[in-house]
Amino acid sequence: MRKPFVAGNWKMNKTAAEARALVSEMLPGLRAVETVERVICPPFTALSTVAELLAGGPVGLGAQNMHWEASGAFTGEVAPAMVKEFCQYVILGHSERRAYFGETDQTVNRRLKAALAAGLTPIVCVGETLQENESGQTYKVVSGQVRGGLEGLSVEEVGRLVIAYEPVWAIGTGRAASGSDANAVVDGIIRPTLQEVFGNAAADAMRVLYGGSVTGANAAEFFQMPGIDGALVGGASLKPADFVKIVQAAA
Ligand code: 13P
Repeated sequence: MRKPFVAGNWKMNKTAAEARALVSEMLPGLRAVETVERVICPPFTALSTVAELLAGGPVGLGAQNMHWEASGAFTGEVAPAMVKEFCQYVILGHSERRAYFGETDQTVNRRLKAALAAGLTPIVCVGETLQENESGQTYKVVSGQVRGGLEGLSVEEVGRLVIAYEPVWAIGTGRAASGSDANAVVDGIIRPTLQEVFGNAAADAMRVLYGGSVTGANAAEFFQMPGIDGALVGGASLKPADFVKIVQAAA
């Protein structure tokens, strides 16, 4: 059985002081849902503060990106060991990184290998744009992102990551995919691609999340689907009652 997984991607929101207040508000509710792996991903500048609040507890902490190099002259970047000092998880290849910061399957792959080597659990994001969706390229795009992003990984390494299917057209738009459309991509594209490259067992064991306008009101529709194991939540993860409701729906 795949353990349900819900992560909140705060994106570029909340100062450290605001993060402290927000986490304090949602923590009791999150702590209570023991059957779900739950993770908060604040901005880098709030990681230290939030790590203190989560220390020793059941709620995990993740970063939203990470460089692959261990150290050196990379102004503005954050190294794997720096993330690992505070976090257990890291989001990689988010569509906003791909669209605005030049992220490619190749750079996602480098980050992914570095994250695994650092002992982090990567949350690797894939998903097609509206134009790609409407022109019938979803299979090609998503399958290509899975192949390219995970290239060269061992089956053991594949067993240590989580994939998030986030159709770009559903992110921050209030226009979520339907549960069955999302499931069709997860079980019709993502798992078959994994199966082809890494084998049956790896494909079956992979936790695949849905992301894109998930709210407390629609989360259950996704979690009912056989192929969807949880959610990567943006906007609603900044609303304590909503985020706790989503985590509860995954239980
Ligand atoms: P929204 O939940 O705000 O649509 O964002 C989804 C997302 O991009 C999570 O990584």
